[in-house]
Amino acid sequence: MIEIQRYDDVERIRLASWGSRIAGMDVSAYLVNGTLVDSGFPRSRGALARFLDERSVSAAMLTHYHEDHAGNAELLASRGIPVLMHAITRERLRAPAGIRAYRRVVWGTPRAVTSLPHAPVEAAPLQFVFTPGHSPDHQVVWAPERATLFSGDLWLGVRARVMHSAENPYRILESLRAAMALRPTRMFDAHRGPVRDPITALGAKISYLEETIAAIEAKIAAGWSDRAILRTVLDGDEAVAIASRGEYSRMNFVKAVRRERAGR
Ligand SMILES: [Zn+2]
Repeated sequence: MIEIQRYDDVERIRLASWGSRIAGMDVSAYLVNGTLVDSGFPRSRGALARFLDERSVSAAMLTHYHEDHAGNAELLASRGIPVLMHAITRERLRAPAGIRAYRRVVWGTPRAVTSLPHAPVEAAPLQFVFTPGHSPDHQVVWAPERATLFSGDLWLGVRARVMHSAENPYRILESLRAAMALRPTRMFDAHRGPVRDPITALGAKISYLEETIAAIEAKIAAGWSDRAILRTVLDGDEAVAIASRGEYSRMNFVKAVRRERAGR
């Protein structure tokens, strides 16, 4: 399923599968200046291919390796479109790790990307800005001429408390500050779409994360258990924690703070 929305010079390519609809999720790629930002998930391959038939796409930039963003890198490469990405993204795509059943249902199974043509470093006037935390390779795409930020999975809403087991809230915070320093006037989130008043939205998320991390740290210092912190600071967990068998949960937020503190 594909829906195209136009925002001035930006096209939002909103992609969903039956599985993702049921899970209440969709993801968007964006086309700006002939450059595609992200590529959707493996199950959206046919829809994306038909979209590419109708447009001229000169390059693609992938924000990170997750299958709902980089899931059609191989399709782009097979059409000779230069696909730009971080070195870690490239490494992950060459040998994708297995993903759990629910993610295969929602997004489809990623294929190994073996035929990436040599790509230039940037698709001017767009630039990558390294913003790790959500994943170790995460980069936002910045269009300085129109102060437009394609934020990938950096923002995801102010109070997004569910984290992947590998996420690092401290690095997310640093990355949000780096994005804020760009002073974007337009922002396009990979799941939420266009975000009104990006500086306020980024600022609200920074405050929320700072306060929540501080609250979790205080409870850890006072000897509280992860379960008690989850209940008190984050109001318990969400259904996704069970559906994903803990891969995505609010508990991961608590565990990440404990892990990062211990590592200092
Ligand atoms: Zn992601």
